[in-house]
Amino acid sequence: MCNACNTFLDKLIDRGLLIETGVDGLYGRSGAFEDVIARFDALITRFGGGDGAEIIRFPPGMNRALFEKSGYLKSFPNLAGTIHAFSGNDAAHARLVERLAAGDDWTEDQRLTDVVLAPAACYPLYPVIAKRGPLPEGGRLVDLNSYCFRHEPSKDPARMQMFRMREYVRIGTPEQVTEFRALWLERAEQLIGKLALPYHLDVANDPFFGRAGRLLANNQRDQRLKFELLVPIESEEKPTACLSFNYHQDHFGTLWGIRTAADETAHTACVGFGMERVALALFKHHGLDVEAWPATVREALWG
Ligand code: ATP
Ligand code: ZN
Repeated sequence: MCNACNTFLDKLIDRGLLIETGVDGLYGRSGAFEDVIARFDALITRFGGGDGAEIIRFPPGMNRALFEKSGYLKSFPNLAGTIHAFSGNDAAHARLVERLAAGDDWTEDQRLTDVVLAPAACYPLYPVIAKRGPLPEGGRLVDLNSYCFRHEPSKDPARMQMFRMREYVRIGTPEQVTEFRALWLERAEQLIGKLALPYHLDVANDPFFGRAGRLLANNQRDQRLKFELLVPIESEEKPTACLSFNYHQDHFGTLWGIRTAADETAHTACVGFGMERVALALFKHHGLDVEAWPATVREALWG
């Protein structure tokens, strides 16, 4: 047992649910933790699986050129993760090994690869949909799930650098897309209700970078483009966004040239489920031993 298990993170690690790697926000997960994630994933499918979404799974890395075009670096340069690889010759390699041994900077010959880490599950999707040509009459609905990366190291276990996001993404007319978001706002309350978690819904904004970012954030709030379902995990005063409901209007439609069946610019929206955050909320509120969770919660997940 750890003698000074003060924080929730300490308790999770002591219990073996999360496994330390030496980097804040980067953890291994135990079988018990993964089982909760898998069951929650299945619960989401019970709510959304009847809608006929197309299932697509992208790897956690995405095409750098498309990422550059996506505008992510304009809004969140501090969160992005890029993948570099060695590109030197024999002499450069010898230098690398020498510097590594000396504890010096060895990255001189590291060059950007064509791959960056996906910051959200839906980023690789829009160009794929655009490439297919005009949307069918009913628009499109896609089911995604991916590990995502955000460079935001933290001791808060709910703020990881690598975490999974399940998403449903709707692409279509403004009516189709706003209807989808309203439906999921309603479903989300039922879903979290089944898990007996305390929550509230609120308007939110993305963490846009810098001074210009504050303007974007205010605009996003004023127009009520982002909602979050928040559950207290690390703090009562600052509850954690476990689900997000984003309406991008025609932002991605214009950027990627996605057209509706009537040849108008498509609108998009997504609902994102923070898989680890919901698991952590369950461990926080119902205890570290899943066997001791309330019968109704166990039934919702394992029933
Ligand atoms: P926050 O405001 O807490 O930074 P966000 O609004 O940036 O979160 P989104 O961009 O909407 O989050 O991401 C969709 C979902 O992914 C969130 O609702 C959340 O559950 C999850 N998520 C986001 N960032 C993290 C993280 N660092 N660690 C774990 N889950 C995360
Ligand atoms: Zn999304």
